[in-house]
Amino acid sequence: AQITADKIREAVQEQNVQFLRLMFTDINGIIKNVEVPVDQLEKVLANKIMFDGSSIDGFVRIEESDMLLYPDLNTWLVFPWGSEHGKVARLICDVHNPDGTPFAGDPRNNLKRVLAEAREAGYTTFNIGPEPEFFLFKLDEEDRPTLELNDKGGYFDFAPVDLGENTRRDIVLELEKMGFEVEASHHEVAPGQHEIDFKYADAVTAADNIQTFKLVVKTIARQHGLHATFMPKPLAGINGSGMHINMSLFKGDNNAFFDPDTDDQLSAESRHFLAGLLTHARALTAVNNPTVNSYKRLVPGYEAPVYVAWSGRNRSPLIRVPQSRGLSTRLEMRSVDPTANPYLAIGAILAAGMDGLNNKLTPAAPVHRNIYRMTPEERKANHITDLPSTLHNALKALAADEVVIDALGPHLYQSFVDSKRMEWDGYRQSVSKWERDQYLELY
Ligand code: ADP
Ligand code: GLU
Ligand code: MG
Ligand code: MG
Repeated sequence: AQITADKIREAVQEQNVQFLRLMFTDINGIIKNVEVPVDQLEKVLANKIMFDGSSIDGFVRIEESDMLLYPDLNTWLVFPWGSEHGKVARLICDVHNPDGTPFAGDPRNNLKRVLAEAREAGYTTFNIGPEPEFFLFKLDEEDRPTLELNDKGGYFDFAPVDLGENTRRDIVLELEKMGFEVEASHHEVAPGQHEIDFKYADAVTAADNIQTFKLVVKTIARQHGLHATFMPKPLAGINGSGMHINMSLFKGDNNAFFDPDTDDQLSAESRHFLAGLLTHARALTAVNNPTVNSYKRLVPGYEAPVYVAWSGRNRSPLIRVPQSRGLSTRLEMRSVDPTANPYLAIGAILAAGMDGLNNKLTPAAPVHRNIYRMTPEERKANHITDLPSTLHNALKALAADEVVIDALGPHLYQSFVDSKRMEWDGYRQSVSKWERDQYLELY
């Protein structure tokens, strides 16, 4: 349903909203807020709130710093947790230049640009169902996160083993109050690790939901004296946290990935799209797994993908085609982790799939064997390549892929690469405990 300015004016009165939080996302996927008192409401609704873009990572230089916030009224939400000073509501905004044109460095605008291209090809909706995973760690006396997990539970364990149960239940309740349709929530494989799946939505809404989700999880975890982290691999030796992305293209009410008349009921379009994802998989990794730590997750043995392959049966490959058909016919990309900027990642994934569609690419045969038991020769014979093993290698793959570069656009590509090169250099120049343990006495 469309939310109008009048509805918002009414809600502000009825619910005693005192502050408006205007939200957008920087290049690193971090939510930024400009908070204004409610007497600024008319200015907000008239797209007249300005902020200094030069203080945001990946935005603009000092000399062109004034940016405008255009709120998306449909994202209106009054936060259910109260404050002594009245309620806080939020609106997710698009960032515009002072002349009113959409700012090319805004990840949300960019996703809309990529979606418009798919729409021109006849695909009205790109549906996204994310499966974010996270860890809950205990806080110390000063409320700082420790490395102590909050429970010893495992996959689908029940209380009392699963002490995170109550926290997760509260998170789910808050999400439902905020309009999320939570489909499933369970303890994950690792101790202290959880997953909450909410119903798929169109790409922009799904990306907005992912951002809101992370905020809610962190807020409610704090109320339980816990720190929630979406870091991909906080602890070595146990599973990391992914954010599998389920996706499908719709034409009107029809799922273009479904075709009742083929052997496996997958359409030719779904195959082309899948082939596009495989072709651009290495470059996509830079966007989907954008931190140094992301690559500590993409290693064998922890249910995260390492090789570029697909399957309808097992869960180890990069892309899985779940068995559901009809409206829920979908592809699941399993490499993505929760540090990905959801707007950038979903846009890049769509562009890669659309390239497969536009060029009618054909995917290699599915791999039903355990890839981890194959020899390098067997992998080669089955056209299975590796995902990049470091952020550095992923950036090199990105630099060689025009399709994914175009999906970011020149402004975002440049700020992304600049920011990530700096991150890699910082990491490369640091000396870790592992190295000292390994070499200090030996040499
Ligand atoms: P898994 O099979 O990996 O356990 P889940 O059942 O946990 O998957 O999650 C499935 C996700 O896929 C949910 O977010 C769901 O809403 C989403 N989904 C279902 N149908 C579609 C579709 N047609 N397009 C995109 N996502 C979908
Ligand atoms: N935690 C695993 C990962 O890193 C995924 C487990 C699952 O299949 O849900 O992707
Ligand atoms: Mg999971
Ligand atoms: Mg999954």
